[in-house]
Amino acid sequence: MAWDFETDPEYQRKLDWADEFVREEVEPLDLVWEHEQFVPLEGARRAAIEPLKKQVREQGLWATHLGPDLGGQGYGQLKLALLNEILGRSSWAPIVFGCQAPDTGNAEIIAHYGTSEQKQRYLRPLLEGELFSSYSMTEPQAGADPTRFETRAVRDGDDWIINGWKFFSSNAKTAAFLIVMAVTNTDVSPYKGMSMFLVPTDTPGINIERNVGLYGEPINGGSHALIHYENVRVPNEALLGGEGQAFVIAQTRLGGGRIHHAMRTIGLAQQAIDMMCERALSRETAGSRLADKQFVQGYIADSYAQLAQFRLFVLNTAWKIDKYNDYKKVRKDIATAKIIMPTVLHDIAWRAMQIHGALGTTNEMPFFRMIHGAGVMGLADGPTEVHKGTVAKQVLRDYQPTDGMWPTQWIPAKQQAAREKFAEFLEHEAGNL
Ligand SMILES: Cc1cc2nc3c(=O)[nH]c(=O)nc-3n(C[C@H](O)[C@H](O)[C@H](O)COP(=O)(O)OP(=O)(O)OC[C@H]3O[C@@H](n4cnc5c(N)ncnc54)[C@H](O)[C@@H]3O)c2cc1C
Repeated sequence: MAWDFETDPEYQRKLDWADEFVREEVEPLDLVWEHEQFVPLEGARRAAIEPLKKQVREQGLWATHLGPDLGGQGYGQLKLALLNEILGRSSWAPIVFGCQAPDTGNAEIIAHYGTSEQKQRYLRPLLEGELFSSYSMTEPQAGADPTRFETRAVRDGDDWIINGWKFFSSNAKTAAFLIVMAVTNTDVSPYKGMSMFLVPTDTPGINIERNVGLYGEPINGGSHALIHYENVRVPNEALLGGEGQAFVIAQTRLGGGRIHHAMRTIGLAQQAIDMMCERALSRETAGSRLADKQFVQGYIADSYAQLAQFRLFVLNTAWKIDKYNDYKKVRKDIATAKIIMPTVLHDIAWRAMQIHGALGTTNEMPFFRMIHGAGVMGLADGPTEVHKGTVAKQVLRDYQPTDGMWPTQWIPAKQQAAREKFAEFLEHEAGNL
C-alpha cells in the first residue's frame, strides 16, 4: 500500500526552516524593493540579498527543481511543490531560492535543447541568478493562437535576420537575453515552420517600444515589453534546438512553468485564508464576532474546501511528473491545475477582501493585487478557455461513441439485459407466486 501523504521528517525540517526564513528574512524585501526582483543585483540590494541566497544554498534548497548536473538537488517536482507553496507568499522568495518564473522554464529548455556553448553562455549565469531572461513569443495580433505569428527570421549567409513585433515579453527591459520565436519556413505547417533563437538584448535592432504596466503600475512603467525587432542579425549559433523545433520546445517550457505557478498559488491563497480567519476572530459587529456569523463561516469553509482540493490536485500532479518524467503524460493534469488556479485564488481573495470591509479594498491590504493576479493567471501561459479545450480533448480520448441509437446507460435496454441475465430465477419466482 504505497499511498502516503506525509513528508519525510528530514525534508519537513527544511520546509520548517524555509517557512520561518521566508517570513522573517524574505517577505520584508517585498516591501522595500517591490518591483526590482528582475533587476540584476548591485549595490545595497546585492549586499542584502547575497547572504540570503547563501543561506538557501547551505540548506540545500537552491534551485531544487534542477538536477545535480545543473547545480540543483534533484529533488523533483513534489518536493518543489511543498517548497513553492511557502515561496508563493512572497514575490522575492523565488529569486532568493533560484526558482523564479520565467527563468526556470527558460533554463529548462536551454538545458534540454542548448548546445554546450549556449549552456556556457546563458544557462550557467542564469542558474547562478546573475542574469535574467525573457521569453518573446506572444505578438500584438496573436497570443493564444501561435499559428498566426508573423515575426520572421530569414537566412542571410551564416546569419539570420529577424523582423517583427512581440508583445508581453516579460522582463525584457532587464533581461540579458531573449528567447525569440520566429517563422523560418512559410512552405510548411506553422507547427514545423517556426524556430527559437537566443538573442542578447543589446543586439542592434531590438527596440523596446513600451514597457506595458499591469493594473496599478504606471502607464509604460511596467515590465511587459512591446518589442519591435528590426533587422536583428544573429549568427546561426543563436538557433535553439534546430530549425522548425519551436513548437516542440515551447511545449517543454510551458508544462513546467504552469505547474510551478499553481504550486506558488497555493501559498498565496493560504495567506488569504490566514488573513480571513484572523479578521473573523478579531472584528465584532451586531453583537458577535464575524467568526460567529454563518455567512462568514460559509466563506471560511468554502475557502478551506476549495484550497484543500486544489492543493491535493497540484501535489498529485507533481507526483505524476516525477513518476513519469514526461510532461506529455501529465499534460491533462497540468492543464487542469492551470484551469482551477485563477478561480481558487480569485474566490478566496475576494471573500477575504469582503470580510475586511472597506480596508480590504484599499492598497493597504494585498487582496486586490491577489484578485488581479488571479486574472493574470487566467491568461499568462495561455487562456483558461484554451486549456479547457486541451483537457476536454484528452478526457474524450478515453471514450468511444455508442454503436446504436441509445446511450449505453439507457435504462430500458439495461433492464431488458438484466432480466435476460436472471431469466431462470425470475421464472422460478413467477412460478412460486
Ligand atoms: C502577466 C502576463 C505575462 C506574460 N508574459 C509573457 C511572456 O513573458 N512572453 C510571452 O510571449 N507572452 C507572455 N504573456 C502573454 C500570454 O501568453 C498571452 O496573453 C496569452 O497567450 C493570450 O494571448 P492574447 O493576450 O493575445 O489573447 P488572445 O489570443 O487574443 O485571446 C483573448 C481571449 O479570447 C478567448 N480565446 C482565445 N482563444 C480561444 C480559444 N481557442 N477558444 C476559446 N476562447 C478563446 C479567451 O477568452 C482569451 O482570453 C503574458 C501575459 C500576461 C498577462
